[in-house]
Amino acid sequence: MFNIIIFGPPGAGKGTQAQKISESYNLIHLSTGALLRKEVSKQTPIGRQVQTVMASGGLVSDNIVDEIIENEIKRNGQVAGFIFDGYPRTIHQAERLDIFLASTALPLVLNLEVGSEELITRLKLRGQESGRADDNEKTIANRLKIYTEQTQPLLNFYAEKKRLISVNGQGSIEEIYTRLQEQINNKK
Ligand code: ADP
Repeated sequence: MFNIIIFGPPGAGKGTQAQKISESYNLIHLSTGALLRKEVSKQTPIGRQVQTVMASGGLVSDNIVDEIIENEIKRNGQVAGFIFDGYPRTIHQAERLDIFLASTALPLVLNLEVGSEELITRLKLRGQESGRADDNEKTIANRLKIYTEQTQPLLNFYAEKKRLISVNGQGSIEEIYTRLQEQINNKK
């Protein structure tokens, strides 16, 4: 089994790159953002519980996302591997994921580095194009703040475990994808 975490701030391009990697390497793409948005659109009990915090750019509680991820891993059974997108976002989640995967393969972390001005430009554009409720100016600032406070510390967590690889996340989609492929092929 081969597992990857695609890591980076909101707007870094995790979803776009995860999709491409998932197709070429036959990995199951697990996006907590997409899974949570599905719960909201279906108005399930979880969806109703998380919609306000998501719309404000806050983090959904660890136990909810941990359970969603654990269920998806179990549901998929025998697979080549997973690419995690938007998970983990807290140290607690990172520790949980290592426990889930300990008997298989601990994921390699590919960190997309993008400057904050570029992130804000991309997120505003996505808000205009996709109409995603959380891609508005006020919420974007909140998401970037939460990223810095709660998610960025994971970089150290994984660097200490020698599982972190940072890649320049600016350039064309294909350029960035080529950089990621080089790193994956090196480790696989
Ligand atoms: P982005 O990376 O652009 O912020 P996502 O689609 O990954 O977008 O996430 C959208 C929202 O879903 C987040 O702002 C948060 O409210 C919620 N969310 C997604 N993943 C997690 C997670 N691992 N832990 C807590 N909340 C999450």
